[in-house]
Amino acid sequence: MSAESASVLAWIGLGGNVDDPKSAICDALTRLNQEVDVGVEAVSSLYRTAAMGVTDQPDFLNAVARLVTKRDPEGLLQTLLGIESALGRVRSGVQFGPRNIDLDLLLYGEVEMATRSLTVPHPRMHLRRFVLEPLYEIDADLTLPDGRRVSYLLEQCRDQGVKRAGSIEVPR
Ligand code: AMP
Repeated sequence: MSAESASVLAWIGLGGNVDDPKSAICDALTRLNQEVDVGVEAVSSLYRTAAMGVTDQPDFLNAVARLVTKRDPEGLLQTLLGIESALGRVRSGVQFGPRNIDLDLLLYGEVEMATRSLTVPHPRMHLRRFVLEPLYEIDADLTLPDGRRVSYLLEQCRDQGVKRAGSIEVPR
């Protein structure tokens, strides 16, 4: 990592529901860890959820990872979008539709921001048990920049049938 900027802890969500989502999630983590100024520190279990919204599609597999990075939020987002493209992400045009890989920037330190291209914290993370459960698994004390604890958000979130579905390795 370069010396000029401070390291920040960032959290990302990974998911997919077509082709081989577990492989795509592992591949994305490996590629991320190979990036300059990005390290993957911790990875949750995999979680399986029936699709919400557009329900006529395969179940999703999701996980979250904690990163340490010297990239700024926009730079980190561009890295995530680049990895999605490298893994052959095709945008169906259907919001919440099927995808082989989806990478979201959930949290970037204590930053709260909203631009045309990036909103952090991720605007829907508090509604999604497939995000909150794996975040809680890695850090039961995790708190959003507005002071709300992930444990509190989980209590507020209805049951969405999220099930643990195996584990993945932290890339080395
Ligand atoms: P999607 O892959 O369908 O979830 O949408 C990706 C688009 O959402 C990207 O082009 C980003 O510019 C935008 N976006 C806004 N905020 C975020 C965020 N926190 N994480 C990922 N993408 C975001």
